[in-house]
Amino acid sequence: MNLILLGPPGAGKGTQAKRIEEARGLVQLSTGDMLRAAVAAGTEVGNRAKAVMEAGELVSDDIVIGIISERIDEPDCENGFILDGFPRTVAQAEALDKLLAEKNKTLDVVIEMQVEDDPLVGRITGRFTCAKCGEGYHDEFKKPARDGICDKCGGTQMTRRADDNEETVRSRLAAYHEQTAPLIDYYGKKGVLKSIDGMKAIDEVTSQISTVLDAV
Ligand code: ADP
Ligand code: AMP
Repeated sequence: MNLILLGPPGAGKGTQAKRIEEARGLVQLSTGDMLRAAVAAGTEVGNRAKAVMEAGELVSDDIVIGIISERIDEPDCENGFILDGFPRTVAQAEALDKLLAEKNKTLDVVIEMQVEDDPLVGRITGRFTCAKCGEGYHDEFKKPARDGICDKCGGTQMTRRADDNEETVRSRLAAYHEQTAPLIDYYGKKGVLKSIDGMKAIDEVTSQISTVLDAV
């Protein structure tokens, strides 16, 4: 099964993608994670993307389409994948349709995580991640059982993203409303869109998504 998690920054896409990955053996494909890895490695793509990401704007379509096209060809995607943070523009969605058709793959469902803007700022500014395994946490909503120690792998180094500050969050939300929200209509017209309430607690969101996926 191949699916898209669609929602603004902080909607809970990464949190839920990791849970779906574990529960269903699908692979999470986060263009944000891939771009951050490229920035950290100092590749050409990373150097082109860095300042754009810091400003909370969208990286150019050709960069992210190229990244996803290559990644989908890797063997671990054969069982199915969860797109997290891609597509983010209509041009990206059209390119995805084209490349899935070329690769004989299907898009089974797009799950729209409906959330309100205001609580997202707090979700994003309180977010931190285990540097070793990537497990995501929150200062208030998802603290590790022992302060500073990852529940999942025991790692002790937690990181915060450079773009997870209030000012950049506002730009990222504006980019979502202007450039990404039209995809709700795009996938609605294709008949693959399912919407869930992303304002509920993390476990409740997981069970709503599970109900949707069981019906696919
Ligand atoms: P996204 O990948 O959509 O940007 P994340 O999954 O990283 O969002 O979630 C953003 C932050 O909000 C994280 O710190 C996460 O722990 C927290 N979070 C995720 N889902 C919920 C939820 N349903 N309620 C409260 N906090 C949440
Ligand atoms: P994310 O981790 O999904 O919050 O993405 C972090 C940043 O990476 C975004 O603010 C964009 O600058 C960039 N980015 C990630 N995915 C895409 C995409 N599909 N299209 C354009 N820019 C992206």
